[in-house]
Amino acid sequence: MTEKCKICLIRDMAEKADIYEYVKRTRAMLSDADRASDELYEERLDVCKECSSLLAGTCLKCGCYVEIRAALKSNGCPIKKW
Ligand code: SF4
Repeated sequence: MTEKCKICLIRDMAEKADIYEYVKRTRAMLSDADRASDELYEERLDVCKECSSLLAGTCLKCGCYVEIRAALKSNGCPIKKW
């Protein structure tokens, strides 16, 4: 059986470039106090990319685009992976 690519993040999907622009704008609009640092953001996304609940940029546990959920410093993973 061939395992199908589940696709990871929005930024990896060319057909969703408009949504990724929205992700970047949303992240940029957050205040410095509210925005997760670049390092924290990437750490979170690395966890999501290895998670079986990630499908096409969306977390199947909460329904969020993980690139938006991870942007807010005070947010957390719904199953406490980060
Ligand atoms: S937010 Fe948590 S449950 Fe959702 S994809 Fe990321 S690591 Fe998995």
